[in-house]
Amino acid sequence: QGKLKNYIASMIDISTKKEAQANLQQLAFYDALTQLPNRRLLVDKLNRALVASTRNGKDGAVLFINLDHFKRLNDSLGHEVGDLLLLQVAERLVSCVREGDTVARQGGDEYLVMLEDLSTDAEEAAAEVRLIGEKILITLSQPYQLAMHDYYITASIGVAQFSNHNQSQEELMKHADIAMYQSKKNGRNTLSFFDIKMQERISARVALELELRKAMELQQFHLYYQAQVNSDGRLYGAEALIRWLHPERGMISPFDFIPLVEKTGLILPIGLWVLETACAQLKAWQNSPQTRDLTLSINVSPKQFHQPDFVAQVKSAIEKNQINPSLLKLELTESILLNNIEETISSMIALKTLGVRCALDDFGTGYSSLQYLKRLPLDQLKIDQSFVQDLVENDQDKTIVSTIIAMAYNLEMNVIAEGVETDEQKQILLNKGCTHFQGYLYSKPLPVEQFVALVCA
Ligand code: C2E
Ligand code: MG
Ligand code: MG
Repeated sequence: QGKLKNYIASMIDISTKKEAQANLQQLAFYDALTQLPNRRLLVDKLNRALVASTRNGKDGAVLFINLDHFKRLNDSLGHEVGDLLLLQVAERLVSCVREGDTVARQGGDEYLVMLEDLSTDAEEAAAEVRLIGEKILITLSQPYQLAMHDYYITASIGVAQFSNHNQSQEELMKHADIAMYQSKKNGRNTLSFFDIKMQERISARVALELELRKAMELQQFHLYYQAQVNSDGRLYGAEALIRWLHPERGMISPFDFIPLVEKTGLILPIGLWVLETACAQLKAWQNSPQTRDLTLSINVSPKQFHQPDFVAQVKSAIEKNQINPSLLKLELTESILLNNIEETISSMIALKTLGVRCALDDFGTGYSSLQYLKRLPLDQLKIDQSFVQDLVENDQDKTIVSTIIAMAYNLEMNVIAEGVETDEQKQILLNKGCTHFQGYLYSKPLPVEQFVALVCA
């Protein structure tokens, strides 16, 4: 009658089949000797990493690692000892990377490492890769204990970096391979990036940093002085601008090295040198009636300003040189206001109590909080040169400049315009009430003798 009466259950033991499948899986995706993922699995993961990198914007890299002269080991001590080495290399590689990264063996003495979740900034990511790559080189070059033999070997590494799916997986693998051959060519036991331009940039930066560290003791830094004039055209002071006079590269602009020294912390000794040199210069100017009343502005970077003993440094430089503190002016940028605002205000008040003047440099280009501006004991706003540049043609710049000048007066500060290059620019600024000027119209930054000659002319 079609009624359900019974069930029949039928069972088969499939463990052997599962095991066989797992074995097959292991054989297909893992290297039999080291149990590391093989190239096939790495390629699979790389494809997924490329998609992920497009999504989260983070860079990644493939490192192609080849042992140097591995064949010699096989030839001299046999394949079994060779295998022991390959196993230990695998272990060491795994110990060098983070958990989410992949170490694979491509075959023979070739390994692949894939790094993910690096910085979103290509240069920073490259620095991270370099750090890991160098760790790998050092780790692999440590002595190996192979059965009864002590053995040494090094490796050559090629790196291909990826971001935003800008290359296919095939291209990346090829690039890493090419870069690895570059490392072989460069004498082995080294690391090369595929992107030649980036590699050049990184090497240049490393070289620059090394040279910057020596520049202080080699006395390669100099202060140049750029005239500041008042509305009658009278030269009343200068801004001290640092120059790096390099024996081979020539004169290097602070635009090219100040950001780097700020990152590395070198700005602290350099900034202190600027402060002390400027105070010594003011002291030297005391000896002549023509230079006695000159004011001198120096640029102070945020890191330098935020040192707990910055005010003490200024005080000591003034006392040591017995100068009139009101002739010294500190040019600060709006970025000092980005953190620890209360501490910033109290340091500025302490500086003011010393008698030192403060100006806000590059005004209008940062995050000016008008709320804080009124609380800061500033003497001067410095209109950024970008507003001065197109002043003649650009009505918006005219409006901005007028507004800055009006605001400065309401806040009882004076105004200086920087980057004044033409008479027309000066005239507009003057008409709008600007009282102080600096720029090529009056003088370029000059070595001290030339600047003094200009003062005395
Ligand atoms: P800044 O303080 O805003 O200095 C003004 C820059 O504009 C200087 O560049 C100056 O040479 C340039 N300049 C002056 N007049 C004109 C002009 O009429 N037209 C044009 N196009 N440019 C003009 P410089 O000397 O290369 O300095 C660049 C920046 O480096 C400075 O900008 C300052 O932020 C920083 N810097 C310079 N010396 C020091 C220093 O001793 N310590 C620190 N922390 N930073 C410094
Ligand atoms: Mg300045
Ligand atoms: Mg400026």
